[in-house]
Amino acid sequence: MDATRLDLHPQQQSGLYYHASGAEVELFEQADRFGMPVLIKGPTGCGKTRFIQHMADRLGRKLYTVACHDDLTTADLVGRHLIGANGTFWQDGPLTRAVREGAICYLDEVIEARKDITVVLHPLADDRRILPLEATGEELQAAPGFMLVVSYNPGYRNLLKGLKPSTRQRFVAMAFDYPEAVAESRILQHESGLDPAQANQLVALGNALRHLGQHDLEEAPSTRLLIHTGRLIAAGMDPRQACEACMAQPLTDEPTAQAAIMDIVRVHF
Ligand code: ADP
Repeated sequence: MDATRLDLHPQQQSGLYYHASGAEVELFEQADRFGMPVLIKGPTGCGKTRFIQHMADRLGRKLYTVACHDDLTTADLVGRHLIGANGTFWQDGPLTRAVREGAICYLDEVIEARKDITVVLHPLADDRRILPLEATGEELQAAPGFMLVVSYNPGYRNLLKGLKPSTRQRFVAMAFDYPEAVAESRILQHESGLDPAQANQLVALGNALRHLGQHDLEEAPSTRLLIHTGRLIAAGMDPRQACEACMAQPLTDEPTAQAAIMDIVRVHF
């Protein structure tokens, strides 16, 4: 595993725009107050990462984000000994840094990671809030402000891999979904520069495609995908071409499904 693939540098927070859909901001703040970890489930591109960036900003915390994948090991999170010019030295991983600094550590798509990471997550995710570093013999007490946040997409492909109950029950959990139409239109206008009428058209198209269901598409069009389409349209591109490039092609490789998408596109643009 190449350590450079992990984000060891906290993102600079710059007042990122976030449109709340419910009580998620308050819930997150309460979880933080009580030192409880947070689990966010929801389809890809629905605003999970943006929400956490917003909350880190709001709480004035550093944020370490780790995009989990099936090779991700405990050492990638916690740290490892490296060999340098002056011999071996210990390098903290992003989780350890967050624990020491009282920052937020966000494990995106946590169920992709290897199962052995639960060994370090469990003592951190309950009242103990400790991180045992086996390699150095240290047992770190999480600094005030440390928060563990994990997310995953409970789509059908992940059903079998889901988190174990003993892990899930340590978290305050929130279910995210695509924003409702008025909110999604506002987000589109803000993020892509579309005017309100076009943003509404694109949201209506997105919702029509979402109703196609899983038989036709592996995954529904996300808010992110609508934003990409909206940016090209706002830049002056022909809307149908933008929808072909940002919707039909990314959503499926099946020519019949692409044709079905373009039929729906032509009803809207
Ligand atoms: P996820 O982490 O769920 O895959 P993201 O948080 O990266 O998705 O969302 C994709 C993009 O959609 C964001 O970069 C942002 O532009 C936009 N977005 C989605 N939901 C919201 C929201 N509630 N407020 C502001 N922007 C949002």
